[in-house]
Parts: sequence; C-alpha cells; structure tokens
Amino acid sequence: MKALFVVLVTSVCCLPVSAQNYSSQTVDDYVGELNEKNIERWPDQRMPIKVFIKPGENVIGFQPQYASFLNEALQAWSQAMSGQVSFVIVNAPAAADITVSWISHLPEDSKELGGLTTIYPGSEGPSKVDIKLVTFPERRSQQQKLLTAVKFSTFHEIGHALGIAGHSSNHQDVMTGTVHLNNTMTFMNIGLSNRDVRTLQRISNDPVLAQRRNENHAVANQKREISRLGNEGNKCFNSKDYKGAKDCYEKAFAIGRTHPSVRQNLAMTYYELGKQKIDESDWNEADRLITLAIEIDRQHLTFPIGLRR
Ligand SMILES: [Zn+2]
Repeated sequence: MKALFVVLVTSVCCLPVSAQNYSSQTVDDYVGELNEKNIERWPDQRMPIKVFIKPGENVIGFQPQYASFLNEALQAWSQAMSGQVSFVIVNAPAAADITVSWISHLPEDSKELGGLTTIYPGSEGPSKVDIKLVTFPERRSQQQKLLTAVKFSTFHEIGHALGIAGHSSNHQDVMTGTVHLNNTMTFMNIGLSNRDVRTLQRISNDPVLAQRRNENHAVANQKREISRLGNEGNKCFNSKDYKGAKDCYEKAFAIGRTHPSVRQNLAMTYYELGKQKIDESDWNEADRLITLAIEIDRQHLTFPIGLRR
C-alpha cells in the first residue's frame, strides 16, 4: 500500500523571533489548519504504541543526543496526553507500530528537510508509521543550532506520527511547517506548545472529528477492498480463469459500481465468458453474458459487438 501522505518539516530558517515561552501562550488549537481527511488517531486498544528505534551509530552525522531527543519527544507527547497516548520500545521492527531511523540526507536530497514521516493507513487508524530523521552531517560546525533543529524535527515528526496531519502556521508550535531558529533558541527550550497539546487532545477526543474520521475510514476501507478484489480478479483474468475473475469483479462492482476499471474489467470478463458459451453453442447464455457486458460498460466497449447474435 502506498503511503497516505508524506509530511516534511523545513528545519532551518533565519527570521528573527523572540525567545520561546511556551507556558504563556493562549490555549487554543490549530485543528482548523490541518488536512482534515488525513487526520488520524491511534485507537485506544493499540496502546501502548510499539516503537522500534533503529540504532543510528553507523549513520553519518548521528550524535548520541539525537537518541535522547527522541526519548524526550515520546515522553513529552505521552505526558501531554496524560497517558492517553503511550509508547513502549520494542526490539524488532516486525513488532513495531512506529519505526524510527536516522538518515544523513533524505532521498529528495533537500538540505532543509528535517524529517519524513510516512503513515500507512489501516482500517481504524494508522497501520504502520515510518519516521526518518535527518542527521545533517554538514552542519556540525554550528553544533548548538544543529541540536536545536534536530530536536525540533524529532518532536515535530512524532506529532505527525500521532496523527497531526499538516502544520500550524504559528512558529511557536512544534508542528509549524517552518522552524525559525535564532540565537535565543536552544535545544534546552524546545518543547510542545499548549496549542500542540490542545490540538492532539482535540484530535483524540472530539466526537465530531471522530465521526468524520470514521466516515473517511469507511470510504478508504471500501477503496482498499475494491483494490484487493480487483487485484485478485486481475490474477484470475490473466490466467484465463474467467469464472474466478467474475466472482472477484462482481464483488468489487457491488461495492463500487461507478469505479471505471471495475466496470471495464467485469464487462471484459462477461465478454470472455460469453465467447466460451458461443464456442459451446450455448447461444442463450452467450447472449445473456454479452448483453451484461454491454450494459455495464457501454462507454468503453473494446470488443466487437458483432459477436452478439
Ligand atoms: Zn511536518
């Protein structure tokens, strides 16, 4: 399954801002700024979320502090949620819900991206999450800024992994899309803003958001089922098992009658079955099947209608 979405944080910028003071911010949230369709929530029964941390010692640019930032970030988000969200470290990636690794550069090779979080959707929430955190080996000459940026990115990507899809426009939030570093910011004062906390709390507990999320999951689950049945049907069709293909495509068609490839594939299958009946001189059944094919996919007919008697 392809990733539902990819989220990025720009790690370094130079606009001057005042020192962070997280405790004095107004308590509200930025749910309205997020991509509502991609907001996720880990179901309660998945707690504690299992995290596998791939050791970073062999990654160019990795520093031991990076691992402590990750532990701090997990602890901070969990504490902010009063334990409603919790984590446990596991030793095998196969057992993990979230896998975290470090990388010297992202595949896109952009020097300004601090991390990449990929969420693989499941039926009731994330199925798996993969987080890559950038080590920025070329920034070692600016150690304090580097540590600040990496810690910020670490807190930020964990926020995405917990379901915060999108970014805050407020640069004081750890979920801002662009980190503004200045000399008063150090890795010591990086932390969640009240708005970060409030946002995840609302994502986790707001019944209206839960209802919308359930509706989105239902649509996504239908799409996944159509895709699964379609792939099974394709295997059957390609091996000329047209009866098997018909079973799969009919089930997919019952879920998504307007899906163009489902319609086209089912019509082609009826057509192939109809041809078999012509070979067997079963004219009535051949007529019924070819008629079905025409009814289902009149628009994209790619077979000779002249076969119909
Ligand atoms: Zn981001």
